[in-house]
Amino acid sequence: MNERFMLSAPQTGRFRRKLLEWFRANKRSLPWRKQKDWYPIYLAEIILQQTTVEQGLPYYKAFIGRFPAIDDLAGASQQDVLKLWQGLGYYARARNMHKAAGILVREYHGRFPRDYEQALKLPGIGPYTAAAILSQAYNRVLAVVDGNVSRVITRLLALEDDIRRTDTQKRIQHVADLLISRKYPGDFNEAMMELGALVCTPRAPRCGACPIRFYCRARAQGKTAHIPYKSPPSPKLKQYHLVMIRERDSRLLLQQRSEDGLLAGMWGFPVRAVSEKELKNPEELKEIAFKRALLKKISSPMRHVYSHIDLKYRVLWLREPKESARDKEKGCWLQRHELESYPIHKAHLKALEWFDKQSTS
Ligand code: SF4
Repeated sequence: MNERFMLSAPQTGRFRRKLLEWFRANKRSLPWRKQKDWYPIYLAEIILQQTTVEQGLPYYKAFIGRFPAIDDLAGASQQDVLKLWQGLGYYARARNMHKAAGILVREYHGRFPRDYEQALKLPGIGPYTAAAILSQAYNRVLAVVDGNVSRVITRLLALEDDIRRTDTQKRIQHVADLLISRKYPGDFNEAMMELGALVCTPRAPRCGACPIRFYCRARAQGKTAHIPYKSPPSPKLKQYHLVMIRERDSRLLLQQRSEDGLLAGMWGFPVRAVSEKELKNPEELKEIAFKRALLKKISSPMRHVYSHIDLKYRVLWLREPKESARDKEKGCWLQRHELESYPIHKAHLKALEWFDKQSTS
């Protein structure tokens, strides 16, 4: 608990009023805000995890257009869901959303549970998402803390502790629980997030336009540039790959990843792990490429960064004669246009773009 930030009841009331007034006058017009129906809110909350509104909005529109009700989403194939999600990353969100849709239809008559504990049992629903949906759709008094809210609260408190630490997060959550409006919890949560997105921005916050500036210690102490403090992330795992685009009889080999782990269920090209030294040296790669005679082109090094992995890779275009069809590679040999209906993960989409340029030049 942060005793230093205990506001009196009248002060807390004024704080909420100022923030809510600002929100009602300044909030962005977003499609899931138009009604208090849980399904659009649910879709938006899942899509917007680790994604900005600008990036997520086209995906939200695509999903609500294709699957306008929970039954439509539950009845879709996983491949269709992943295909629509393609390019947004963190594909576990899409798989979990699809699984949760099935559970909601089968076990909850197509509704989202009002009970917080039950909501937490659904795939892909953690404390943040449960609180966000339940407060907005059902007016439950549950405070949400995301990156935007953490920033606003640490600045309000002038809290210089590392926001990666669990005890700091608990402290932030505690203050959010104290501040949340009992009457308009959904609007309050959205207002805090909107303030963080539009006014209390990571760099150069617009304190002069902030409705809660008179409560803000970081502003009073001139510390907004240093708060919140976030310790450097642990270094990403480095991986080096050869991505094989194997062409046979005008068809390309595409493989589906297993149902577990990174990019589960997505599609891509066969991959071979190599060392950093091997990746840097195209001559060595020609030796590594299993049939040198078939090697048509090698790309320059490419890079794709995942949340925990820094991947560097080159693409090898291998043209194979029909008689090499004896090998037992798993996957589908597809014509180029057929690849469009498969959910291909981003690093391999970049590989495919490279292939398209090479094959038309
Ligand atoms: S006064 Fe400035 S730093 Fe404080 S909450 Fe408002 S925008 Fe953020």
